[in-house]
Amino acid sequence: MRKNIIAGNWKMNKDLSEAVKLVSDLKSELDGKTLNAVVIVAPPFVALEAVKSLIKDSPIKLAAQNMHNEDSGAFTGEVSASMLKSVGCEFVILGHSERRTIFNETDEFINCKVKQALANDLLPILCCGESLEERETSKTMEVVEKQIKAGLKDLTNEQIEKTIIAYEPIWAIGTGKTASPEQAQEVHAFIRKLLIEISNESVAENVTIQYGGSVKPDNSKELLSKPDIDGALVGGACLKADSFRDIILSV
Ligand code: PEP
Repeated sequence: MRKNIIAGNWKMNKDLSEAVKLVSDLKSELDGKTLNAVVIVAPPFVALEAVKSLIKDSPIKLAAQNMHNEDSGAFTGEVSASMLKSVGCEFVILGHSERRTIFNETDEFINCKVKQALANDLLPILCCGESLEERETSKTMEVVEKQIKAGLKDLTNEQIEKTIIAYEPIWAIGTGKTASPEQAQEVHAFIRKLLIEISNESVAENVTIQYGGSVKPDNSKELLSKPDIDGALVGGACLKADSFRDIILSV
């Protein structure tokens, strides 16, 4: 059965001492609470090891925000899957719209990263989502279908089942504009159908599909109550322990 997963993408925020404070605060906020979701934090690379040591005895799990698809070598500034594993990451966010638009990452490159993550026992959070122009010209499903099919290309059913998908309409990221629960559910249901086409019904039923895009404590409950929305990928609202806690506890 699929799990609800709430992940916080810290992006390029929090230096080492700020990261230590944020995760320590989050740990205290969640202490003694019953959690109905897997909780993940994705700090910047330089804070991964420190954050890992602080979450050791807690339900919080660790993700990286990106990685390279090669094992090692002359790739200045890049980080490999085995490096992420060595500091305790269990998950890695791949194909975030900021990677696609600012750093020109293609579907093919993202697919290589997804395969490399899985080969190294890291669970990928594969992001997809349309721009405002694409939504306004009724291209949402076409864009999402292309990104999902390309991102999951050549994966076995077992690997697809391990992959988490995050639907993040670009127009809703960091803008304060959230997709309505109905708009989000429509795309999530479409993605689930697509997964049946790519793999099979049982795999599709087991894949977690998160929603991302201005998720806040005041809209999370309604979004997360939709049948195909299995958690959230949270940006801005995960940078404060209390607002991230409220989103986590709304599941
Ligand atoms: C994100 O970048 O993944 C995101 C969803 O950001 P925000 O919650 O700030 O819109």
